Amino acid sequence: MRSIVLYFIIFLFFIGTGFFVYEFLMKNKDWAFSSVNRHLSQGIISQGKILDRSGLILAETENRKRKYSDNEKIRKALLHVVGDGCAFIPTSIQSLYKSELFGYNYVTGFGMPSLLGFSQDLTLTLDSKICSKASESFKDKKGTALAYNYLNGEIICMVSLPTYDVMNRPILKNDDKYEGVYLNRAISSSYTPGSVFKIFTALAALDLIKDADKRSFSCNKIKLVDGEKIVCMKNHGKINLKEALCKSCDIAFSDIALELGKEKMTEKMNQFGFNSKLPFDKLELSASSYNVSNSSSGGLGWSGIGQYTDKLNPIHMLKIMGAIANGGICVEPYIVKSMKMNSYFSETKLKSPGLTKFLNTESADKVKEMMRYTMKNSYGDSKFSGIPMCAKTGTAEVGNNKFPHGWMVGFSYDKSFPIAFVVIVENGDFGIKSAGPIAAEMVKNIYNRFKNDKII
Ligand SMILES: [Zn+2]
Repeated sequence: MRSIVLYFIIFLFFIGTGFFVYEFLMKNKDWAFSSVNRHLSQGIISQGKILDRSGLILAETENRKRKYSDNEKIRKALLHVVGDGCAFIPTSIQSLYKSELFGYNYVTGFGMPSLLGFSQDLTLTLDSKICSKASESFKDKKGTALAYNYLNGEIICMVSLPTYDVMNRPILKNDDKYEGVYLNRAISSSYTPGSVFKIFTALAALDLIKDADKRSFSCNKIKLVDGEKIVCMKNHGKINLKEALCKSCDIAFSDIALELGKEKMTEKMNQFGFNSKLPFDKLELSASSYNVSNSSSGGLGWSGIGQYTDKLNPIHMLKIMGAIANGGICVEPYIVKSMKMNSYFSETKLKSPGLTKFLNTESADKVKEMMRYTMKNSYGDSKFSGIPMCAKTGTAEVGNNKFPHGWMVGFSYDKSFPIAFVVIVENGDFGIKSAGPIAAEMVKNIYNRFKNDKII
């Protein structure tokens, strides 16, 4: 009898040990990062470096302290991408890639010297100098600027304003200047799109209305829809789709929304990525929304020109710019280029980015030509120093007597310089006046770096 009890105790011991080993192996990272063990992840141990695409150090650990770039402008420009080390910016690399940066060893936990540990250095696709210049060009305005290679998915520029210096943190509370400072606006915001939404309405028209690009629309400046006024900037008279996009005719695009109706517009916008949380890196983007379920006819008309309740996420728009440039297929944008364990290991290239077919090829190609026409005839190639671009601006009314949000979105026509971009300036006034110069400077800077350093 005694031996049975003994065997039973031994049996329990092995079960218990087995459970512990299983838990240890499967959940070690959870333990290490749990709040009771917070001391482990706050500065005591070494974290991997974060580098930009040219190998410039954006963050590293020195004497058990996290250090950032020596250049204040770069620190400010890349705050939202790199993070502040205090987990205030949950979408940053230091939060998302915490376990890769810290490393973890089954035998020693975090106790391994960093040379032998499993912490990894992360190289980003971003160019810190281009980010720094783009961030500076916002001056005291809020917003975001993005640029990516639409053939391989590498994001070259991603900045979000307002920002602050991680090495010299100001008092952020109750200061309008720092409203929403922890948000990476590119990832976690959705803005009223204004006229850049006409790109989506044009795509829907080309998909669903036969010969949409050959017929003409009629603009008399003011149109009454069930008693609601839709007002255009000008009396454009008879106008075709290409001219309507170039001149940003509100009547033509509200007519398309009304002609297609709520159901077809919603179906198309869903196909184009609205009303769902699109993936980006290890995250989901703030959803773009298109919802006309309770709208009046006037509301439906306004929805076709990017007002009503339309909302658009900046990275979603960047993906669509990439898709139009690329025959309807978006090469998914990403920011971590490679990881490297330590000097004994070679670099791990991350898996190639996914492809998303957002658009029909034929409609995408037609809109590409229309956006090229708009660039040449409405804004002028000289704005981008003669680099052949396709673009559309937007000026989104936001109410409350505030200045509208200014947008400029586009991409290069020539695939030998495959760059797509999105710039938004909050309360910046007209898109061409506010976002236009920031976009032009960013694209020119990328072009010059490309020419000299073959960065793409
Ligand atoms: Zn008009």
